[in-house]
Amino acid sequence: MHLITGTTKLLGVIGHPVEHSLSPVMHNAAIASLGADYVYLPLPVKPEDLEVAIAGFAAIGLVGFSVTIPHKQAIIPLLSEVSDIAQSVGAVNTVWRTAAGWSGTNTDVEGFIAPLKAYHRNWSQTPALILGYGGAARAVVVGLMQLGCTKIHVAGRNVGKLNQFRQSWVNANLSANLYIHPWEHLPQLLSHMHLVINTTPVGMSPHVDQSPLDAAAMQAFREGAIAYDLIYTPNPTQFLQQAKQQGAIAIDGLEMLVQQGAAAFKLWLGQTPPVDIMRQSLQQYLGLLS
Ligand code: NAP
Repeated sequence: MHLITGTTKLLGVIGHPVEHSLSPVMHNAAIASLGADYVYLPLPVKPEDLEVAIAGFAAIGLVGFSVTIPHKQAIIPLLSEVSDIAQSVGAVNTVWRTAAGWSGTNTDVEGFIAPLKAYHRNWSQTPALILGYGGAARAVVVGLMQLGCTKIHVAGRNVGKLNQFRQSWVNANLSANLYIHPWEHLPQLLSHMHLVINTTPVGMSPHVDQSPLDAAAMQAFREGAIAYDLIYTPNPTQFLQQAKQQGAIAIDGLEMLVQQGAAAFKLWLGQTPPVDIMRQSLQQYLGLLS
C-alpha cells in the first residue's frame, strides 16, 4: 500500500457534491503504480466557499486539483491564467499551481477526442451531431473543431437554449461550422450523420432503460456511423446497444474520463501517466472486468 508520510504532496478534486467522483480511484491507482509521493483526495467545496477554499489550497501548498460541477465556470475569475482551450469551452476542469498563482485548463476536450483518433476518417467530411447543449457539449464542440469537422450539428429540446448556445459561439467567432436543430428534426437529420454524440444524461444510471433517441430516430441511424455516448455507467448504454444493432460503431464515455484524467495527471506530476492502470482501476471499480 502507498505510504503517506510528512513529505507527501497533495492533489484532489473539488465539487459539490464530490462523493460520486471516480477521479480519486483513478488517480490514486496511477500514483501507486508509479510509486510517486502524492495523494489525491475528494475536496467537497460549496459554491459560496469556492474563493476561500482556493486561497486555502494555496496556503497549504496543494499541487493541483480537478474541478467538477458546479465550479467549472465559477472558478475562472479566481485563476491567474486560463488556457485558450478552456476559454473557448468556457469551463476549467484542471488547475495547477505556478509561481504566478493558479493556472487552469480543460482536458475534457483532449479526453473526448482520444478514442476518436483510433478511427482514421476524413473528419472534415464527417458530419457530426451532438445531442444536448450543456457543459459537456461545449467541450465536444471544441474537440470536433480541433479534429477538423466542418459540419457540427447540435440538437436540443429547448429552442431558446439552443439559440443561446449558438450565440455563445458567435460571440467567440467560432460559429461558422455550427448548425442548430430542434429535437423533432432528429429522424431526418440522423440519416445524414456519420458521428452522433450523446451529451444528455438520458440513459444514465438509474434510468438505464432510456435512450435519447426513440425507435423512429434510431431507424435512421447510418450503418458504419460512430455512436459516442459520454455516459460511462451503465456500460454500454441503451443508446449504444441500439446503435450497434443498426450497424454503428459504439464508443462509451469511460475512455474520455480516463484520458481527461491522464492529461491532468501529466500536468501535475510531469510524468507519463500510466493510462492502462487508470483505465483498469475504473473498470474494476465499476465492475466492468469479468
Ligand atoms: P448538463 O450541463 O446538465 O447538460 C445536459 C444536457 O442534456 C442539456 O442540454 C439538457 O437540456 C439535455 N437533456 C437533459 N435531459 C434531456 C432529455 N430528456 N432530452 C433531451 N435533452 C436532454 O450536463 P453535462 O455536464 O453536460 O453532462 C452531460 C452528460 O455527460 C452526463 O451524463 C455526464 O455524466 C456526461 N459526462 C461525461 C464525461 C466523461 O468524461 N465521460 C465528462 C463530462 C460529462 P435542457 O437544458 O433542455 O434540460
